[in-house]
This record gives sequence, structure tokens and C-alpha cells, in this order.
Amino acid sequence: MEMPELISTTHDERRQGEVYASSLNNNHLFQKTFYIESYGCQMNFSDSEIIASILNSEGFSATNYFEEADVILLNTCSIREKAEQTIRKRLTEFKKIKIVKPQLLIGVLGCMAERLKQKLLDEEKLVDIVIGPDAYRTLPLLIEEAETGQKSVNVLLSREETYADISPLRLNSNGVTAYISIMRGCNNMCSFCVVPFTRGRERSRDADSIIKEATELFNNGYKEVTLLGQNVDSYYWVDERTISYNEIKENAVTFAKLLEKIALINSALRVRFSTSHPKDITEEVLHTMAKYENICKYIHLPVQSGSTKILQLMNRTYTREWYMAKIDQIRNIIPECSISSDVISGFCTETDADHQNTLSIMEYSRYDMSYMFFYSERPGTLAARRFSDDITLETKKKRLQEIVALQNRLSSESNKKDISKTFKVLIEGESKKSKNEWMGRTSQNKVIVFSKENYDYKKGDYVFVNVNGCTQATLLGKIVK
Ligand code: SAM
Ligand code: SF4
Repeated sequence: MEMPELISTTHDERRQGEVYASSLNNNHLFQKTFYIESYGCQMNFSDSEIIASILNSEGFSATNYFEEADVILLNTCSIREKAEQTIRKRLTEFKKIKIVKPQLLIGVLGCMAERLKQKLLDEEKLVDIVIGPDAYRTLPLLIEEAETGQKSVNVLLSREETYADISPLRLNSNGVTAYISIMRGCNNMCSFCVVPFTRGRERSRDADSIIKEATELFNNGYKEVTLLGQNVDSYYWVDERTISYNEIKENAVTFAKLLEKIALINSALRVRFSTSHPKDITEEVLHTMAKYENICKYIHLPVQSGSTKILQLMNRTYTREWYMAKIDQIRNIIPECSISSDVISGFCTETDADHQNTLSIMEYSRYDMSYMFFYSERPGTLAARRFSDDITLETKKKRLQEIVALQNRLSSESNKKDISKTFKVLIEGESKKSKNEWMGRTSQNKVIVFSKENYDYKKGDYVFVNVNGCTQATLLGKIVK
């Protein structure tokens, strides 16, 4: 099924397989080259920047061309069966190069590596290295080992690893927006989801290192940071040096406090975050968002289903009514906030009535955009062990089509409502279609395209733009002085 052209903070279909490009022309400094493709969620794209940094400090440079690489790496996703099929297909394409260049090393990284472990080596004969999300520091060592002809695997999960001290290499960046990973893993155990198994227990990264990274980015000209985690609202960090109960109470950094600390770095630095589990986003976070103009007015709040019965089977820990009350609370505290969602069709036992409840909660929530999927059973998950995947593919797809059609309408309506309003826009670069146009984003995370006219704005500037038209996915506008 064709996915609509929507921009999501979790899983941008257009970025799948993106190559980590090296903009540095300094190959002569390095002895070896690596090529990396990233799949899946933003967390994986952010991890690729950490991996690049680790390899870079060990004498590897990044290349855009797999033909010239000594090591080909695929940073993989396991979230749906299709994601894994895409990787397997890609691996067979690399087989051809390996035949003519037998010394080439091929590594599978990330969630699929963690899920399949040694099996990947047995199934995909050409893979030399298998490395899970918490073991990237050992990648140079594993490469060395693989160079001797051994297959190397490290899929150990950690309770501590946050890569806090590693400064990600942002070679593919637009120089304006960047991701900062603030936590890893997930403790939630949604029954459909493989993430707790592939990314391990939840752990929060040292707040000081996050603030340092954001400050350095700002000092280097970046204007927007997106704080990343599977469940950012459960971020919680206490300095190890804090001992007494009162000190802990005073010094503990919750997600609301972290947001505030980042917002205070500079009012010209925008802050975004993703993803929020509805059960964890607190009133304090909403008030902090309302208080600071530079905390973007946008929340990705995946509902998954609108049926309380299905939500219970999914182990989402909220009911339909509870979720709707959360939407009301957001709209009360931050009236201009845009909200997006993830929706799954055809989860186990889903009836037509359950599906109608999903459509009606989407309508109630008036999502500005959504990522929409049909349920894909993942081996080892709670749902795979407990429930039968009893909805036919045909029904899953039919329901998904209805969900997509509804979201298309809601997105269009949301964009039309913005016509004649003026937004502060951060310019991210030239529009893909024309050198005479800028592309930027509103605080609400909507893409807006507008003519440069004769103004001398540049990438990274803020500009006020009046909306005078729209497509389903993009606002169109004109600069107001
Ligand atoms: N941690 C985030 C959350 O809870 O919203 C995002 C997790 S996941 C990377 C992104 C989305 O993939 C989920 O919100 C869910 O809609 C979808 N997803 C996860 N497992 C799935 C499955 N087995 N089948 C279909 N969609 C799935
Ligand atoms: Fe998966 Fe649920 Fe954790 Fe999101 S919150 S990563 S859907 S288990």
C-alpha cells in the first residue's frame, strides 16, 4: 500500500535506506572507508551518526559509494516484517559486489541484528559482522576480527550504555536541525512491539552531556534540536553525586526540567521532541511547552487504536476516554499545538466496531498528520505469544485504506485552516522544486514553501510567512516584513 506523503518524527518513509554522506573531502587522512545505510525510526538515523563518530576516530572515513567502501553497514529496523524484507533484499544486492571484491566486509547493525543474532550469519551467508544497538563501541574491534576471516557478533544489551560521551558526526546535516538522543531502550512492553527486545531496558542519558551537546550545536549555527527517545516523557536523571533524599528531589531532572534547560540555552534555539507515550506526558511538560516560545508546539502522541478493548490487548495502559481527555488537556493548555499520531489497523480480534472507534478517535483528535500501519506480527512479542493474528491481510489493508483516507482529509482540513495566518518559520534550505524558493518549518512542524523574493535571508534564519495556499502535505506562503 502506498503511504501518503506525510512527515513524521518517528518513521519517515522517504528516508529509508538513506546513505550517510560524507561532506568532508579528506579521505587522504583515513586508511579505510565505510558506507552506511539507515532504515527505521529517527533513533536509528541518530545512531548512525554515533557509529560514524566511533569509526571516524578509528581511521575510517564515510563514503557515499558502496563500490569504493571497505566496509558496508546496514543500520536496520525490525518493527514490521516488511522492514526486515527490505534489508534482506538489499543484502542480496551487495552479494554481487562481494563476489568481485571478496575482502569487502558487510555488517548488519541495529534492531534486526539484535533480534536475529547469530541466525543472521547462518541465514545471510554474506554477512561478516552482526552488532546490536548497545555494542557500537566495539565495532572497530569487530571489523578487525572480521578482517582475519572470522565472523564477528556482539549483541549484548546494556543497562547503562547511552553513548553520552560520543559527539555524533553530523555529516549529512542541513546545518540547521539536529537530533539529540536523550534516552535508549523502552520498558513499556506494548504487546505488538519488538523494540523492548531489540533495544533493551530504558535508560536516560546524563543531562549535562545533553545540554553540552545542544549548546555546542547552537554555537555551531544549528537552530533546532529534536530530543529523541522511544518514550521521552519518562526521561529521569539524577547526578550520581547526589546522595540525600532531599538532594535527589531537588536535583532530579525530569523531562519537563530537561526541556526547560534546553529552551534556556538560547531563545533562538528551537526544541522538539519525540516520541511521547500518552500515559507519560505530564501536565508539567505541557505547561513548560506553553511557557517557552522556542519549545515547538507539536506533540507526536501515538494512539495506536481507538478501541479500549484493543488498547488493553495492546497493553497501552490507557482507555479511549483517557486518551481523549489527554487531547482536551493539550488543547486547553496549548491551543495552537499540532498533534500527530501512529495508528495500527487489524490488530488481533479487531472488529468493525473497534475499527470505527479508531476512525472516530482520529476525527476527535483532529490529527495534523499520522503514520499508519497494518498490524505485522513480530516473533517473540507478547501479542505473538498470546493472541492469534486473526484478521485477514485483506481486512487489515481495507481498514488501513480508510484510516489513510481519513487522515488525508484531516491533514487537508488542518492546512486549510492555516490559510491567511502568519507563522514564524525556520528556513531549513532551498525547496526541492525551485532555487527561487525556501523550505522551512513552522513551530507546529508543518513544512512551508515560499518565494525568496529579493530578501537576503539565508538557511537558519527565522522569517515570518503568511500562508496563502496549501497542498495536503505542504503550506505555501509569502514573506511578511
Ligand atoms: N515508542 C514510540 C511509541 O510508543 O509511540 C514508537 C515506536 S515504533 C518505532 C513506531 C510505531 O510503529 C509504533 O507507534 C506503532 O504504531 C508501529 N508499530 C510497532 N510495532 C508494530 C507492529 N508489530 N505492526 C505494525 N505497526 C507497528
Ligand atoms: Fe514499542 Fe510501546 Fe515502547 Fe513505543 S512505547 S517502543 S510502541 S513498546
